[in-house]
Amino acid sequence: MQTPLLKIVSNEPIVAKKPAVDPSTLVHKDLLGGEFWQRIPAYKDVTEAQFLDHNWQSKNSITNVAKLLKALEGLVSKEFIADADEGFKRAPMSVRVSPYLLSLIDWQEPYGDPLRTQFVPLQSRLLADHPKLHLDSLHEQEDAPVPGLTHRYADKALFLPLDTCPVYCRFCTRSYAVGIDTEEVEKVSLKASDERWQRAFQYIASRPELEDIVISGGDAYNLRAQQLSDIGEALLAMPNVRRMRFATKGPAVMPQKILTDDAWTDALTRIVEKGRKLHKEVVLHTHFNHPREITAITQAAMDKLCERGIVVRNQSVLQRNVNDSVETMQLLVKRLGYVNVHPYYVYVHDLVSGVEDLRTSVDTALYIEKHVRGSTAGFNTPVFVVDAPGGGGKRDAHSYEYYDRETGISVYTAPSVKPGQSFLYYDPLHQLSTATQRRWMDPAEQEIMVQSALAKAKERAR
Ligand SMILES: *Cc1c(COP(=O)(O)O)cnc(C)c1O
Ligand code: SF4
Repeated sequence: MQTPLLKIVSNEPIVAKKPAVDPSTLVHKDLLGGEFWQRIPAYKDVTEAQFLDHNWQSKNSITNVAKLLKALEGLVSKEFIADADEGFKRAPMSVRVSPYLLSLIDWQEPYGDPLRTQFVPLQSRLLADHPKLHLDSLHEQEDAPVPGLTHRYADKALFLPLDTCPVYCRFCTRSYAVGIDTEEVEKVSLKASDERWQRAFQYIASRPELEDIVISGGDAYNLRAQQLSDIGEALLAMPNVRRMRFATKGPAVMPQKILTDDAWTDALTRIVEKGRKLHKEVVLHTHFNHPREITAITQAAMDKLCERGIVVRNQSVLQRNVNDSVETMQLLVKRLGYVNVHPYYVYVHDLVSGVEDLRTSVDTALYIEKHVRGSTAGFNTPVFVVDAPGGGGKRDAHSYEYYDRETGISVYTAPSVKPGQSFLYYDPLHQLSTATQRRWMDPAEQEIMVQSALAKAKERAR
């Protein structure tokens, strides 16, 4: 490639110390472009202008199983449709899939597709829950002084202004609250309500130690522009609040909104700019899990945010058969960096009900982390964390006090969050030996394994 601005100052050849780059390591730059959605029969006549219109995306999002299965007719086998139908009946999540997301799934190979795996449950793939698993494993409700405001850490709080999302993910940690009631779960109500918000703001303003507010959800994408402004203005006006992050899955599932919903993107920009004038940081946190979720449309959206000086960070969830390989995670991390999104965290999958097929072991996380670190800039290298079940907060996956790979129990402590307590994470049963799996079926044996892990952790903890 010619680089016109380079001046030739010497004809002396440069002796390379590294072999020429393997082109396969540069695929993070190859972003899917063109009218890829037209592969889906239902979208074959959809123009680019329509597809980029966030209103079109919202209106055509699929919100019930019957419609989803209808859209797939002719694309996938009857067996697959029956399998998905049964899967949805047993899933604790609501259904919502954007046309963008639907058209990124490879329907020729739907069983193995990493995007399908995250949004469409299949009965044939479901595995029984670990016996230690329950809804709201993070105890967000226990640490909430006001419904929808979790104050767990010293200087930061998590505010859940609403309970809807632009899509619904199978693996959602907040399936106790997010989305409409399903056959399996009756949700805790976290509607967008002025009164609840005011109570949350009142609490935040009353706590001088709170400097950092995470506005999550639900999802900030589903806030109206005015609501986004109201929340931003209310928090910026509090002298104690120094940092704020709006969390949204949006860029990963409907980047179109950033490009065409001017009211929303401008509202976000104004809050960021106002924050900057007040020397306060306002950023966007998002949630890409697989490199294929990043397309040329994503890049255009991230370019727009970049031009406006809006920092975007990413949090991924490590999921089996989605991103639990070195290759996929390296590609994800490099592609995120390429479109100016900072990889911040990779979460070891929370102990969420009904998605045991998606969980991986802590060992898998440690292995992948080792291979990702060093592949790109340190500031673009995510920290692999376990969000300690029981409310210990996020812990570096490596920082366990004790980890028994045989029983799959890891023990974490969180001295700066909940001193004196231990938090246990359990690897999924399907990764353990048959003999150990049998032990987990027996409550007396469970107790022995847990007590032994706690005792060993105590010996080592400092
Ligand atoms: C994740 C989380 C935060 C933010 O934590 P960071 O490690 O700073 O990203 C704050 N409060 C709660 C309850 C959380 O779960
Ligand atoms: S977008 Fe986030 S909050 Fe909403 S369902 Fe997905 S993981 Fe849960």
